[in-house]
Amino acid sequence: MEKLIIATKNKGKMKDFKELFSKYNIEVISLLDLETTIPDIEETGATFEENAALKAKEISEMFQLPVLADDSGLEVDALDGEPGIYSARYAGEEKNDQANLHKVLDKLANVSKEDRKARFICVLAIAVPGKEMIYKKGYCEGTIGYQPVGENGFGYDPIFFPEGSEKSMAQLSPSEKNQISHRGNALVQLEEWLQQNS
Ligand code: IMP
Repeated sequence: MEKLIIATKNKGKMKDFKELFSKYNIEVISLLDLETTIPDIEETGATFEENAALKAKEISEMFQLPVLADDSGLEVDALDGEPGIYSARYAGEEKNDQANLHKVLDKLANVSKEDRKARFICVLAIAVPGKEMIYKKGYCEGTIGYQPVGENGFGYDPIFFPEGSEKSMAQLSPSEKNQISHRGNALVQLEEWLQQNS
């Protein structure tokens, strides 16, 4: 594999992927680097795996190149796994981070500290033309707090306290977050796979 398209328009995610793949002499291209404008692919799958695979497959077929796509979200035990695959649009189609995290806090208003367990999940799917889809999955376990704290990160970071941490995910620096995050974790697994397959 010499060239790999990363199915994202997110510059933060791209930075992490570029760093990882540079060690393997793989040139990575984001959707923003392509001359063709790629419309947002609808996430109609029922699982993180299906959604990541949908994006990877469609773009890979378009360009006949290997494509890596990711899908991620937050699962709260007391909410039967919600927001799950609906994490980005939990409080509505406008995908508002503040509205989303307040919806979680409101729903957990009467839930005790012991029952506020949650985890971030990240699934990476890699589609290579003519080959079977490859999946890597990373987790980050933690609990949901009582109010938003911290200014870093995005999404549900201000209400998520990683296991064993006094700080919320939004109080960690980007490199501290990468070391423990679901995305960092999935990338470690991808790296192990690359070492065996490149
Ligand atoms: P997507 O994988 O870019 O579609 O992200 C799905 C949604 O999950 C985001 O909009 C966030 O609400 C949430 N999410 C995913 N990863 C993180 C994270 O690292 N911190 C906080 N929220 C996240």
